[in-house]
Amino acid sequence: MQVTSITHGIIIDHVPAGRALKVLDFLGIDPRKTRLALIMNAESQSFGSKDIIKIEGDVVVDLNILALVAPSATVNIVRDSVIVSKEKPTLPLHVTNVIKCSNPRCVTSTERGIKQQFHLVRGHEDARGMQYRCDYCDEGAKL
Ligand SMILES: [Zn+2]
Repeated sequence: MQVTSITHGIIIDHVPAGRALKVLDFLGIDPRKTRLALIMNAESQSFGSKDIIKIEGDVVVDLNILALVAPSATVNIVRDSVIVSKEKPTLPLHVTNVIKCSNPRCVTSTERGIKQQFHLVRGHEDARGMQYRCDYCDEGAKL
């Protein structure tokens, strides 16, 4: 069992380098109101570099939302300074109104009131987060 620097909370590991703040934003975690530590551009054996987010306290992470910004991430659950379980993001097949289409000419960009709907095209993790395509024009998401 790996001992951590937090006692009760979560560690989101293997976040793509430079994307930690985006992850907090998507998860609705306010860094000004949360006890957390960000480690940016840490060395990673499998990714070259990565970000790590450590959050003290009871935090609920939506693994579907995490999958959109950091599909390669691992969520470590920490109790009494020990990692007791690990969770992986689960890639939803369809996403509505979370991410936006990157195509400026897409109907979802040019017209109001149209849902931002995306579908999963590859079930495999992709560090660039482009595995979701717009239902209308098949472009990737803006992240
Ligand atoms: Zn589109």
